[in-house]
Amino acid sequence: MTVFQQKQLRPSDGPVQISEEQLMARVRELAAQIRQDYAGHNPHLICLLNGAFLFHADLVRLLDIPLTIDFMQTSSYGDAKQSSGEVKLVKDLSFPISGRHVLLVEDIIDTGSTMDYILRYLGERGPASLKVASLLSKPSRRKVEVPVDYLGFTIPDAFVFGYGLDRAQQDRNLSFITSQK
Ligand code: 5GP
Ligand code: MG
Ligand code: MG
Repeated sequence: MTVFQQKQLRPSDGPVQISEEQLMARVRELAAQIRQDYAGHNPHLICLLNGAFLFHADLVRLLDIPLTIDFMQTSSYGDAKQSSGEVKLVKDLSFPISGRHVLLVEDIIDTGSTMDYILRYLGERGPASLKVASLLSKPSRRKVEVPVDYLGFTIPDAFVFGYGLDRAQQDRNLSFITSQK
């Protein structure tokens, strides 16, 4: 029995449910694609904190190619359940990205405001390439169109949590994704 199976945590009863097995299978598929696309390019995988921390950790462990990592954090003002559209930088990068092949690793793209801000901000720092891997996307909520090069799952408009994503800062430690009714 794994440490995850021992946890006394159960899915909620909302419309989106993605099991640990489904998550791992999809992350493996994305890793295989990324590995192929970036072989020989020493990519730089930037984890967008906090939500992407588990996706990023699982993804980089499955990438058996030379790579480097960094972390960055933004937040949006206002309601915690949805982005206000106004994004602020909370933690900047620790390493320069000039000339690097950057892959942004995000948990979820909702309105697109956060990713739009980050792409503009990092685009000015001269990366050799700049691509996006997002575990989840809610296309029906999009206000700003953003490119998503590697997408885990398209989901309907529901508030999801688990596997790094929070519900009022709790539940990031769930090994699956679940949602509220
Ligand atoms: P956007 O700027 O695309 O509207 O929102 C992006 C951020 O809002 C995500 O990185 C995430 O932090 C938060 N977010 C959007 N939808 C959800 C959701 O369903 N669950 C959780 N936990 N966070 C969400
Ligand atoms: Mg995020
Ligand atoms: Mg949050």
